[in-house]
Amino acid sequence: MRSLVFLTILGSSAIAFADPTVTVSPTTVHPGEAVLVTVSGATAEPHAKAGGRPLEMFPTKTGYQAVFAVPLKIDEDHVLVEVSDGAKPVSIPIVAKTFPETKLVVEDELANPDKEQGRQIDADNAAIEKSYEQAKGAPQFTRAFHRPPGTLTSTFGEWRTFNDGHRAQHLGIDVGAREGARVSAVDAGTVALVRETFLMGNVVVIAHGAGISSLYFHMSKVTVAEGDHVKLGERIGLAGHTGRTTGPHVHLSIHVDGGMVDPLSFLKLPLAPQ
Ligand SMILES: [Zn+2]
Repeated sequence: MRSLVFLTILGSSAIAFADPTVTVSPTTVHPGEAVLVTVSGATAEPHAKAGGRPLEMFPTKTGYQAVFAVPLKIDEDHVLVEVSDGAKPVSIPIVAKTFPETKLVVEDELANPDKEQGRQIDADNAAIEKSYEQAKGAPQFTRAFHRPPGTLTSTFGEWRTFNDGHRAQHLGIDVGAREGARVSAVDAGTVALVRETFLMGNVVVIAHGAGISSLYFHMSKVTVAEGDHVKLGERIGLAGHTGRTTGPHVHLSIHVDGGMVDPLSFLKLPLAPQ
């Protein structure tokens, strides 16, 4: 619509130079959700910011896109998306959300780790954090991301109190799976990390490009190695209950620029890689 208005006012001189347009999906968000920014009509790679943070744009079939996280802990009631080159900024309202509370009983050392176990947990988290760097650059996927099959048994953001002590927020989704069931890559990418961790058990992180990483926890066995290229649906390991779990299942987390996001919100985004 915007370009039509320009054409009417300026006549033939505006044909090649209509302002780029910005669209966002979704148009309202909850804390911890993923947002897709699409810029169309840009003649060169646009510079964009969300909440003041620069976004890493990648070229797509329809223009340029970027994915970012609305943090779980956020005081603002909106996030502003700004794009250079004359495009109109877009304000996305953030709607507050109360996450459910649950109580879980696990082995005592998993609820109350000692000092040495605490150091291992810190090292595990640092290794995972570092693996996200490998997700930078062009998308390695060309198809839509797949949700792991199975019944959803736990949602993103749920508060968990372990053995009536330590309280933590669940930063992924859990899907029911029997011990030894196949765990598949949710899309194409490169294996960025394989690690035996204290709380998350056997972990695989896949870097998909465009700042997107998928994480799989609690596997009984990992069947890929760091540096392997995997396709959508390729087996990366077997389901299990290693780490802090109450039984076998597949845990999936999705990390994008800015933090962990609800995988179900991420899976809805209309990504259009080349
Ligand atoms: Zn989980």
